[in-house]
Amino acid sequence: RSPILEVRQLQTHFRSGHGVVKAVNGVDLTVYAGETVGLVGESGCGKSVTSLSVMGLLPKPAAAIVGGTIHFAGRDITHLPEKQMRKLRGNEMSMIFQEPMTSLNPVFTIGQQMAEPLRQHTSLTKRQIREKMVEMLQSVGIPRAGQIIDEYPHQLSGGMRQRVMISLAMLCQPKLLIADEPTTALDVTIQAQILQLMKEIKQKQQMAMLLITHDLGVVAEMCDRVVVMYGGQVVESAEVRTIFDQPRHPYTQGLLASMPNANERKGELKAIPGSVPRPDEVGQGCTFAPRCSQAMERCRHDRPPLVALPRQSCRCWLYAGEEETALEEVAHAT
Ligand code: SF4
Ligand code: MG
Repeated sequence: RSPILEVRQLQTHFRSGHGVVKAVNGVDLTVYAGETVGLVGESGCGKSVTSLSVMGLLPKPAAAIVGGTIHFAGRDITHLPEKQMRKLRGNEMSMIFQEPMTSLNPVFTIGQQMAEPLRQHTSLTKRQIREKMVEMLQSVGIPRAGQIIDEYPHQLSGGMRQRVMISLAMLCQPKLLIADEPTTALDVTIQAQILQLMKEIKQKQQMAMLLITHDLGVVAEMCDRVVVMYGGQVVESAEVRTIFDQPRHPYTQGLLASMPNANERKGELKAIPGSVPRPDEVGQGCTFAPRCSQAMERCRHDRPPLVALPRQSCRCWLYAGEEETALEEVAHAT
């Protein structure tokens, strides 16, 4: 298996009035061809900033990648100029967001927006473009596709808009789809339909997917592997079964304990007391220590390294004796 996306020791900082915020602080992440990796954590943990870093969509000049590397299909794209990045996005790498209205342009029809990337990245004629658009809209389960092409985003329901977004993302058959909370804004029934659709498309197109979500129900349904983030760092990563059967990090265990039952998947993660630290509040020790019921004295002073356990990697002093190899030095992680 070859990696489509390889993120190594990524550091992304934001400059604010109060100084520098280390939103992403040494993240490693690999997505192999054809697999779905879930990037999981509460809001503010750094998962969206990680994905924006990968896509070259960080708000400038406030945010910048200050360390580490990002490779896409073997190519170093860490500091790729915007012009070249734009060629990658919507072509080899596509994305969908939580609220399609923010990515669909309200003043253009669906057809005008879909035609744009096809003009840019293919050599299809006008007529072929129209045929392709209808075909794509039909393939994501949109009825009356020929008509929808001439409508504006606000004329569609939320679920239909998300289907349009998915068909837009799929137009150029990307190698990687990055989906940031793609179904969070939708009601449960529509959410299930959209997830099913994403699964089918993924299988048909043999594409890899990085799925960013706070919803472990979505993870269970969609993912092969899971990367859990907290405080700008990876705290645990494993195959999806291991995460559910044998979570080791207290934060992962807390996320699972707070998972609402399948009938009410929209619940918030309330069971873990406290809240995600603001990145500028992160002190010296384990970032989860203020909320961890198992915290020891050491946790407040020393940052735990990410260590390789037999079935997962985990950043927690509870397993300090069990590691096979430290994946990084403690000094590295701070
Ligand atoms: Fe809890 Fe300590 Fe492990 Fe951090 S290192 S998760 S505070 S036990
Ligand atoms: Mg987010």
